[in-house]
Amino acid sequence: MKKLADLDFSEFSPGTITEYTTLVCLACIFDIFTKQIGLAPRSAYSEIKRYSPTVEELTSPKAVRPFFDSEEKHPRCPYCDAAKRWHARLDTYCVEGGKTTDAPRRKLFKLLEKKSEQFAIIEQKSDRRTAFFNWLDTLRLTLDLDDSAWLLAATKGFLERKAAKENWADVFEGLRTVRPSSRLTEGWEREGARLYLSPALYNESLLVQYLISRSHVHGGRTLEGRLTLLELLRRMRKGGYLDAHGIAGADQFELFEKLIDEVAGSGTLKFYYIVDRREFLEKVKAVYAAYA
Ligand SMILES: [Zn+2]
Repeated sequence: MKKLADLDFSEFSPGTITEYTTLVCLACIFDIFTKQIGLAPRSAYSEIKRYSPTVEELTSPKAVRPFFDSEEKHPRCPYCDAAKRWHARLDTYCVEGGKTTDAPRRKLFKLLEKKSEQFAIIEQKSDRRTAFFNWLDTLRLTLDLDDSAWLLAATKGFLERKAAKENWADVFEGLRTVRPSSRLTEGWEREGARLYLSPALYNESLLVQYLISRSHVHGGRTLEGRLTLLELLRRMRKGGYLDAHGIAGADQFELFEKLIDEVAGSGTLKFYYIVDRREFLEKVKAVYAAYA
């Protein structure tokens, strides 16, 4: 993984970090603290410096005042029309707790603890299913669903998550196709420009492709072409996947839910959010200077 804003995530496996960005309007915040709460600018300043947004505020796809999202180069606050110099960017990185991330996470947190004002760390209990869908959303953002190369990229992303220790970048180098192989009971094998996956692994990658593309225009696209949910389930049943994993259900939706639980994993885990507050602190100071 690349270095994100001089935070080094290179020791984390791909797919274990989710990145969020939001803008916060300091004019709105000062307004709330001075006009609505009635604090003097000096007290407002020290309150705001300590202000720690919630995970919800930092990561929600729908920002609420004083937060907003904008792709523009010179955005204006949608609530009070304040110009860019009143805005601060808050970058948040979510580390998925687990065996593969424990060691690099502890190492990184040790460094960040020395800068506790600049970097806030928030722990939150969650579950594997939520983690899986967060990962899926992040993966989807990196793919261009109008270019069929996304199918290989999505398969690589899934395998990176499933077997983090393998160097999948090397395995996928110069790769043309991914096929199932009944000769393999587990794992994978590369032959020339082809990658063969065990039927179970292949079917799981089809499910991931299905989940990624189901809301797209030509929804439900996979390495096996366009599949409806029923066709996907039929495939999984025929390949013995459902029986092997003890998945049974009264209808396709129940089966689908159980299948997702199987691939996503069940049980709880922890999310560790790192909030980069550096720009926020800098901007608050500048804005206060303009106020005072
Ligand atoms: Zn504003």
